[in-house]
Amino acid sequence: MSETPLAREIKDLIRHDGPIDVARYMALALGHPRHGYYITRDPLGAAGDFITAPEISQMFGEILGLWAAHRWMILGSPTHIGLVELGPGRGTLMADALRAIGKVLPAFAAAIELHLVETSPTLRKAQATILAEARGPSLAGRSPIWHDDIATLPDGPSIVIANEFFDALPVHQLVHRSGHWHERLVGLVDDELAFGLAAEPVPASQAPSLSNTALDGTIVEYPEAGSQVMAGLCDRIARFGGAALIIDYGHLEFGVGDTLQAMAAHAFVDPLARPGEADLTTHVCFETLARIAADKRLAIDILATQAQFLNELGIRPMAANLSRHATPEQAEAIAKALERLTDDAPRAMGSLFKVLAVSAPGTQRS
Ligand code: SAH
Repeated sequence: MSETPLAREIKDLIRHDGPIDVARYMALALGHPRHGYYITRDPLGAAGDFITAPEISQMFGEILGLWAAHRWMILGSPTHIGLVELGPGRGTLMADALRAIGKVLPAFAAAIELHLVETSPTLRKAQATILAEARGPSLAGRSPIWHDDIATLPDGPSIVIANEFFDALPVHQLVHRSGHWHERLVGLVDDELAFGLAAEPVPASQAPSLSNTALDGTIVEYPEAGSQVMAGLCDRIARFGGAALIIDYGHLEFGVGDTLQAMAAHAFVDPLARPGEADLTTHVCFETLARIAADKRLAIDILATQAQFLNELGIRPMAANLSRHATPEQAEAIAKALERLTDDAPRAMGSLFKVLAVSAPGTQRS
């Protein structure tokens, strides 16, 4: 297979400036202004490269809508609130959430100002279309407001949702060798992209604290971009009030290991093989995110698996209710989706995906 246009560009960059770190490689592969994976395509669904929970079933977005409604009541039912989604994909989750909100709490629907943080022009278009259709009378005439990043979100209380967003943010990888940690790099071997190591170790101040016990070759990941986004979100929530719900695949506790993976057409591929044409992700460390929230004095309301979270919030009665009004084929599809979202076998979605909910203390009703 010929190389991708982005592979050619990254090789030129490396020839000119030398090897790049893994975070830079991820940022280019996903967000390059012309050839970045998310910039050029809609990667979701059966015809795309991967499928996400809201694309599996409307129940997922509806449950998240109900979580948001609950948080809004805890905030004292303000007449104006920002509902923020990070990386909304096709907009399916938000459309389902707004429909559920409109049904149970029209006053919340009327209070919402919708903010979408999205870099992909292709997906922004998809979001505009689906949300224009989904907006009920209470939201009529109020378009979502798009942002490139969280820096431009307006002041004021907000409820934030992010499903499969943090896994797409660039991470650094450090490799242990002879008592030191070295940045993992992407360089060229025989003119092909290949992993390597920086000759100099990272300064002791940046080295992970497990230096003394790690074996040679051990890899740890440092989610610099994700940590910055989390810190920024938590600052806003601490200052203006509100809550955030983060769902992604990853681990509840910090662990070592290389979790960088690439997916194309629903199969794993070599992360260096087709930059710009395969999705590139890492597992999210929820311990790191929760620690950032705790440092910002936020309350950790939920830290659980997706299966635990969805069961707790009532996905089973919701499925039963939907099935009552469904054809036998639809009822079978609902049962399958329920099983897929909540299956907590070791490598299944319900256990692989984790949920973190944080909120500003003092906004909770006693
Ligand atoms: N939440 C959706 C889509 C997940 S895919 C769902 O569950 O179906 C990741 C989403 O994050 C896409 O919308 C992608 O365009 C967006 N994204 C990726 N990197 C981003 C970045 N750095 N800033 C803003 N959005 C980003």
